[in-house]
Amino acid sequence: MAFPFFTLEDAARSFPGAVPPVKLAVLGDPVAHSRSPQLHNPALRARGFDAQYVRLAVPPARFREALARCREAGLAGVNCTIPHKFAALEVADDVDPPARRLGAVNTLVFRDDGRLAGFNTDGPGLQRALEETFAIPLAGLRVLVLGAGGGAGRAAAVQCALAGCARLILVNRTREKIEALATELTVGADALLPAARLTLQATPDLCEADLVINATSVGMKPDDPTLVDPAQWEPRHLAYDMIYSPPETPLLAAARAAGAHVGNGLSMLLHQGAASFAHWFGDPVPLEEMRRGLQESFTSQAED
Ligand code: NAP
Repeated sequence: MAFPFFTLEDAARSFPGAVPPVKLAVLGDPVAHSRSPQLHNPALRARGFDAQYVRLAVPPARFREALARCREAGLAGVNCTIPHKFAALEVADDVDPPARRLGAVNTLVFRDDGRLAGFNTDGPGLQRALEETFAIPLAGLRVLVLGAGGGAGRAAAVQCALAGCARLILVNRTREKIEALATELTVGADALLPAARLTLQATPDLCEADLVINATSVGMKPDDPTLVDPAQWEPRHLAYDMIYSPPETPLLAAARAAGAHVGNGLSMLLHQGAASFAHWFGDPVPLEEMRRGLQESFTSQAED
């Protein structure tokens, strides 16, 4: 099934009178690859809403204009993806405290009183995905985040600290990025964990880790390097790769071959979407319809 994709100019022409009415959108650049419509449209139908979720291509310089147009068109809210998550944090009138801590907003709600509320569902979505995949609370785990200096890695690290992980091991190719994050996590009145529970590494050492999260983009392409020596994996490890295409990266394949429990990023995608839906419309969130919509999007892609 094809899902609508609009430029801002298309939107001005097409949103008024669209059937069903456009009530939600993901704003990004690029955005054509986004699977958010496949998640949210089944959920809107399941709740009986006469509404649709669309993709809207918005260059950075036109982000504020796009938000104004979406509000005028009567949208309930929007998702913001690359490169708008930081601009969304700046533009929101009311920012949920965890979103401020995570340093990015991916969900905006147009409130009836005219205010713009900002949330981050990537961090909570990841936590829900990890706890569902491994059937274990994040609190108390020793977590190694590969690529902690990137946007998704930072969100993973902050969420693990917020959730009360027992140890946080930050790994990043560019050292300065995790040094800054380490200071942010351990220094000051709002520190999230004691410095003694934080380790920085240049290359991953899995000895002290229970859970390993790959938050780099390494593993998406067949000729990508291997970031974890396969000999380090043990059956006690939990391995989560934020990448979901391919469904099993070489990192996950090596971990699985060693007997570790593994999971890919599809569950994170699902749960961040479910949390956004809850911010717009409250409970109940039709999680199974969203899960099915997402799975079907991969089946139909395979058939293309
Ligand atoms: P990003 O901000 O560009 O960060 C990329 C990270 O990967 C950085 O830490 C970077 O290290 C590291 N990296 C890249 N190439 C490397 C290499 N050859 N060797 C070692 N490290 C390398 O990207 P992002 O937005 O955080 O996304 C990262 C991944 O997470 C992507 O695959 C994305 O699709 C996935 N993701 C999935 C979900 C989901 O819902 N499942 C959500 C968000 C993101 P340096 O700092 O040294 O450059």
